[in-house]
Amino acid sequence: MTYVVTDACIKCKYMDCVEVCPVDCFYEGENMLVINPSECIDCGVCEPECPAEAILPDTEDGLEKWLELNTKYSAEWPNITVKRDSPPDADEYKGKDGKYEAYFSPEPGEGD
Ligand code: SF4
Ligand code: SF4
Repeated sequence: MTYVVTDACIKCKYMDCVEVCPVDCFYEGENMLVINPSECIDCGVCEPECPAEAILPDTEDGLEKWLELNTKYSAEWPNITVKRDSPPDADEYKGKDGKYEAYFSPEPGEGD
């Protein structure tokens, strides 16, 4: 198994998760992060750190789409291990539905 980041992260990007990951397996897109499933050691410490509840274990039902997205983009986006400020409007997007369809960007983020 692995943990995956879902669309609850999109445009929230609080980045509390990157500080706690012992194997630095988060990767940064323009407006969300993903986990590299082959690097994640399933420790679970990032899950409760995420204010947007965007991180879930892939043993939960219905997460195949997010596992695929995390796998694909962690190979393309830069590694991120240090927390930066979240977007100023992050709280406005927290908990919104349909963020993937409305806002997902395949563009890479800055990384470290
Ligand atoms: S803490 Fe949650 S919302 Fe913030 S970047 Fe990590 S997964 Fe995304
Ligand atoms: S479960 Fe552990 S190893 Fe996997 S991404 Fe979260 S903090 Fe990193």
